[in-house]
Amino acid sequence: MKVKFISLASGSSGNCYYIGTERYGILIDAGIAARTIKKSLKEAGISMETIRAVFVTHDHADHIKSVGGLGEKLHIPIYTTARIHEGINKSYCMTEKLHSSVHYLEKEEPMQLEDFHIESFEVPHDGTDNVGYCIEIDGKVFSFLTDLGEITPTAARFIRKANYLILEANYDDEMLRMGTYPQYLKDRITSRTGHMSNIATAEFLAENITEDLKYIWLCHLSKDNNHPELAYKTVEWKLKSKGILVGKDVQLCALKRSTPSELYEFD
Ligand SMILES: [Zn+2]
Ligand SMILES: [Zn+2]
Repeated sequence: MKVKFISLASGSSGNCYYIGTERYGILIDAGIAARTIKKSLKEAGISMETIRAVFVTHDHADHIKSVGGLGEKLHIPIYTTARIHEGINKSYCMTEKLHSSVHYLEKEEPMQLEDFHIESFEVPHDGTDNVGYCIEIDGKVFSFLTDLGEITPTAARFIRKANYLILEANYDDEMLRMGTYPQYLKDRITSRTGHMSNIATAEFLAENITEDLKYIWLCHLSKDNNHPELAYKTVEWKLKSKGILVGKDVQLCALKRSTPSELYEFD
């Protein structure tokens, strides 16, 4: 079965990822306008009609902006935990609350939806509740970990399972330290429930990469405290120090913030 993946947006101004087969698709987060999702999918040759569900990682605005509209107006089922749902409906950015379209997930209780085998798991972040997703389609395993302060043993377990990995590289230490953010915000970002730095992600990958991992996409890059080339180079260099060559042993891509990635297809 052919598997398609595209990042529609990735970063603090909005996050949305698509993963699908020839028949169906699902979204991970919907933090950009529904019309932008529809337009970007269409440009990639994917119809919105094929979307069977949205899986939400946590209740921060950059991940949920259009879940109300997609759920309640377009009647697309929205899957998340009960606590994230509670947080979503309290969020300032929700003009349309989520009611009938929401379905609850329990962490580490796998479910099957059409072509997708889906498992959510705990990640450390400062949303009301926070999950990553591990999605298996026809033997291909995708792990999504956006917005997490550190790699816990649970997060590590799902990273090691992946053939295709979407993992946060939010900020460069130096850029954040020297930058203009107020101290409380710097402290929040670097805390164990904040975000992953380039070097923390790079070091974890260099120590934990498996032979089964084919592709790494660095996600949720900060606009003010990171550059795609810097995130890419940091990870490439750390992997190289362990004898792992990007382009040969594993593929690497730093996702763009507000423009869609290419459409990836895997056989
Ligand atoms: Zn975020
Ligand atoms: Zn967040």
